[in-house]
Order: sequence, then structure tokens, then C-alpha cells
Amino acid sequence: MKDELMGTAVNAAAIDVENPSSASAVKKAGGRLVKTACQLCGAIDERPVTAQNGWSIVRCARCSFVYVNPRPDNETLARLYLKYLPDKMADPLAWDTYMREVFSKAADVIIRHKPGGRLIDIGCGYGFFLAEMKRRGGWNLDGMDVSTTATDYAASQGFRITQGTLETVGYPDASFDAVTMFYVLEHVTDPAGVLAEVRRILKPGGMLLLRVPHTTPIVQFLKVFGIRNNLYDPPFHLSDFSAATIKRLLEQGGFTNIHTSIGGVTRPPELLKGLTTAAFGIIAEAAYRLSRGRIAMAGVAKNTVAFKP
Ligand SMILES: [Zn+2]
Repeated sequence: MKDELMGTAVNAAAIDVENPSSASAVKKAGGRLVKTACQLCGAIDERPVTAQNGWSIVRCARCSFVYVNPRPDNETLARLYLKYLPDKMADPLAWDTYMREVFSKAADVIIRHKPGGRLIDIGCGYGFFLAEMKRRGGWNLDGMDVSTTATDYAASQGFRITQGTLETVGYPDASFDAVTMFYVLEHVTDPAGVLAEVRRILKPGGMLLLRVPHTTPIVQFLKVFGIRNNLYDPPFHLSDFSAATIKRLLEQGGFTNIHTSIGGVTRPPELLKGLTTAAFGIIAEAAYRLSRGRIAMAGVAKNTVAFKP
């Protein structure tokens, strides 16, 4: 494994301190950190971008991929998520508002390519995207999430939901016409491995629609004004994809017809995050429309569509 180049064995179970996700708290509680090579090109040649909450965010000198390094090992991360997920998942209706525009636009994009079929939303949360697709009609829908709070809620809405990850569930080859992943890939320790699994469960010609944040340009913008922030959300967001690096990752994973667009603006509840995301989002969306897709501004979350040949 590339992401296990080094690390010292310690007891991750001890983590339950006041601020459990700061690097110093994780280390103090005996969490295990591992150093990774660039997961996009394999280089071990990084430059610092910034530090947030004691975590180093670095950029690969060879391919410009931005990632957290070092990072918690899988066991430590799993421990940290025990607190993170319930906090993030506290309010279903807030999530509905937060994601409504994005989900509606994503559904439009899918239907433009595929009139119907079987779709799985990986990281489905409360199932609001599945609800959007159900309203469109013609789709046989599945959802999956690691959070039991989320899967219990989504299942109570009548959806077929599995609790777990792609690796643990193991769908048969060529099961789906479409796979969606909203805000998943930035969290995973092995993005290429997850995409390989997505490709395997897609039918030939099947489509993937994923959405990831692109935080680096916003952080650099705020840096000019000396505004401190924790927008990278380390160590939960391990990768920060640009349109270029997500394209390269998908190409390396055997996907074709890769296209990235803005795909709507989220409405984050936190004030700073809300203001910057909305401002960047609205400007980016306008530039994208006025230029008929030629200008996809950096600095906001984006949707990327890709196909299995
Ligand atoms: Zn690289």
C-alpha cells in the first residue's frame, strides 16, 4: 500500500479528547499517523500549501495534486468519524436545503444521458438525492452510506439502503447504469481503489456522476486577507481535487468522456463557509453560463461526469 510508507503503532481507541480531530490531539491520544506518496502520480515530492488544525496540506511537485500528509491511519480515522458523522448528520432538513439545487441539477444531467435504469447513490446520507431521482421516475434506486443515522432515515423513507462501503458490500460486476457520489471521494483513503470498484459495478456505457469540493483557490483567496479558516476540513477531507486532477484520476481508472461542470451551489450553514462558497459559486456559475461552459472557475465544488467504456 502506497499510503502506509511509515507509521508507528499506537492505540487509536484512546481518542476522545476535547478537539479530537486536531493533529496534536490525535497524536496525544496515541493515534497512528501514516505518510503517503502522491496518490495520483506516485511521486514522493511535496511542497507545503498550508497547515490547518495542525494538519499539513501539501501539493505534489510533479502533478499538483493537493492532499493531507501525513494523515491518520484507517483505524484512527474510523475512530475520529465516530464523532464527526453524528455532528455532520445532526439535522436532515438542513441537509435537504443545503443540497437541493445541486441534487436537482445532477438529476437533470443524469437524465440527459440515461432515461432510466438502476442507480446507486454511494454516500447517500438521508436519501434526498434518491428522492429527487424517484420524482423523475423510471429509476430502480439503491443507496449506501457508512452512517447508520443516515441509512436508518433513508430506509424509513422507503428506499433500498445498505450500510457499509463499496468494499464491504461487494455488488456483482455490471450491476448499475449509473453511480453517484456526492462529497465522498475527498474522504476516502484510496480514491483510485474506490473508482476501480465503481467501474467494476457499472455496466459498459454506464455513467458516474461525482461531486467534490475544490478548496485550494478559496483558501488562497482568504490568505490574501489574512483570514484564518479550517476549510480543508482535515483530516476528514484527505484530497482536494481540481478539475485537472480529478480528470487524470478518472482517466487512469479507465473512464472516458470526462466532463466537469459547476452543477449548482450549496448553502452551507456556517457563516464564513456560506459567504465564501455562495460568492464563489454564484460568480463561477455566471461565468460558466456566459462562456457557454468554456470558463469553469476554480474555487467551488464541481460535478464531474465520466463513463465506463
Ligand atoms: Zn503527484
